[in-house]
Amino acid sequence: RLTPLAQSLPATVPFVGPEAQERARGTPFRARIGANESVFGPSPGVVRAMSDTAAEVWKYPDPENHELTAALAAHLGVAADNIVVGEGIDGLLGYTVRLFAGPGDAVVTSDGAYPTFNYHVVGHGAELHKVPYKDDHEDPEALVAKARETGAKLLYMSNPDNPMGTWHGAEVLSALMSELPAGCLLILDEAYGEFAPASTLPPLDTSNPQVLRFRTFSKAYGMAGARVGYAIGDAAVVSAFDRVRNHFGMTRMTQAGALAALNDQAWLSHVITETSAARSRIAEVAITNGLSPLPSAANFVAVDCGHDGGFARRVLSALGDAGLFVRMPFVAPQDRAIRIGCGTAADLDLLEAALPGALAHARP
Ligand SMILES: *Cc1c(COP(=O)(O)O)cnc(C)c1O
Repeated sequence: RLTPLAQSLPATVPFVGPEAQERARGTPFRARIGANESVFGPSPGVVRAMSDTAAEVWKYPDPENHELTAALAAHLGVAADNIVVGEGIDGLLGYTVRLFAGPGDAVVTSDGAYPTFNYHVVGHGAELHKVPYKDDHEDPEALVAKARETGAKLLYMSNPDNPMGTWHGAEVLSALMSELPAGCLLILDEAYGEFAPASTLPPLDTSNPQVLRFRTFSKAYGMAGARVGYAIGDAAVVSAFDRVRNHFGMTRMTQAGALAALNDQAWLSHVITETSAARSRIAEVAITNGLSPLPSAANFVAVDCGHDGGFARRVLSALGDAGLFVRMPFVAPQDRAIRIGCGTAADLDLLEAALPGALAHARP
């Protein structure tokens, strides 16, 4: 009795979680540096706010996320009606596709870019068109050309990019925005924006109804388990989310935690510093082992293993056997790399110890 659309969908989710892998292994990982989480954790204020709110969990949460939305607006210098809060970028991407792309509509992304977006596009019956990466970067010119060619309703781009960690300067994104075909909405995913040089994020312009910017508390704010993100855009576009969003989707604890996170910008700076140091250490370890780390503006480093995807998969699998949870890009040619998350010093000690053996194992 599934709908024809549901029947046509693969019975899969985009990611196999580390928990599922641990169940299969029968033992926990020793380092969890594969899902771009922040191992440095949330601000202690977040933990306090969430525990303080726990006793009030009998109350439904505020369906308007009023306090958090107002605080985000003040923080970003936009109006509250330019912001919609939701269940992480992942949840908001689902709503966005539902609002703007129906069965048969064209949607454009890069081949090997964030798979959860594709998951939603396919789930709503829209049609994905992909352009290749160019020199391990998403390729804005090719994306716009494809959007023009297909009459796309949505164009997805992540800056900085996942899985490669590469990025374009704000001026490139501004040019992309000015070249969007009429009727096409740019989904600019800035999940890693806080880690990137300031010159990466174009100024916020909430008067442009063709651009939605997506940000999250999952990465730099260390709250991936709480599921909270937000989109910033034109008020009319933002208000459309009220037609489809899950109004009680944000728990009271999540709302309180995100508010506390935003109010502790010193913790954010601390995390950014630790992350940057970890990026350098990963690059050093890679170079010592004869590999090529890509420059990264995110909280992970894509390390080019110098051969094909098969080789990188063997390295990954040997690292897994050594107790390290790491992931890698899904498609060629990006899959010659493995993607290593910014771990604690102890995590990266394990990486340093395990990598030579993993490479030896991968070589024929
Ligand atoms: C991690 C990630 C997300 C997920 O964000 P949530 O707010 O946790 O749903 C979205 N986009 C990209 C590119 C990511 O890497």
